[in-house]
Amino acid sequence: MRIELVNLEHGRGDFAHVYQPDELGSLDDRVTLVEPTAVNGTVRLAGTEVFVNGHIRTRAAVECDRCLKQVELPVDADFELEYVTGQTYESSAAAELTENDLSVSVFDGQAIDVDEIVKEQILLAVPTRTLCQPDCKGICPECGIDKNTGDCNCEKKEVDPRWAALKNLTSGKS
Ligand SMILES: [Zn+2]
Ligand SMILES: [Zn+2]
Repeated sequence: MRIELVNLEHGRGDFAHVYQPDELGSLDDRVTLVEPTAVNGTVRLAGTEVFVNGHIRTRAAVECDRCLKQVELPVDADFELEYVTGQTYESSAAAELTENDLSVSVFDGQAIDVDEIVKEQILLAVPTRTLCQPDCKGICPECGIDKNTGDCNCEKKEVDPRWAALKNLTSGKS
C-alpha cells in the first residue's frame, strides 16, 4: 500500500490495512509472520516533511538462537517516523536530523510506502536474541540432538575439560 501525498486532504490522511502473512513477502531469514498483520496510522504533511505515526499488531515466529525451534512472539508496536525528500535531507544540517528523536527517512516526495514501514517495524520489534525458554539447552554440536528433549554421551565429554581446568586451578593455588 502506497499513500500518494497528492491525495491527502488538507495534508492529512488516516490509513488502515490488514496484511495476510504472504502479502508482505519475506521479512528476513529469521522472521516469519504467522498471523495477519494489522496496521493503522496517520500521515501528516508539514512543509517539506511528512510525519507518519501508527500502530502495528501481528504475531511472528522466530528461530530460537540455541535450538532453532520456532518461537512465536506477539508484535505490538507504535511507530513514529519522519520523511524528507533527498533534497531536504541534504540541505538540512546533519546534526539537526540526528538530534531528533524521530527516525528520519528519505523518500521520493510522491508517496509513502506503508508495506516497507510495516516490514521494517516488525523487524525492529523482534528481539535480536530469541530463546524458546530462558534456559534452553540448545543442540549438541557433536551429534545434533536437541538437549531439551534428550541426552547424549557427548555432553559428558564436554564437561570433562572444564573439571580438569578447575582442578589445575585449585592445585595451582595450594
Ligand atoms: Zn531453544
Ligand atoms: Zn551429543
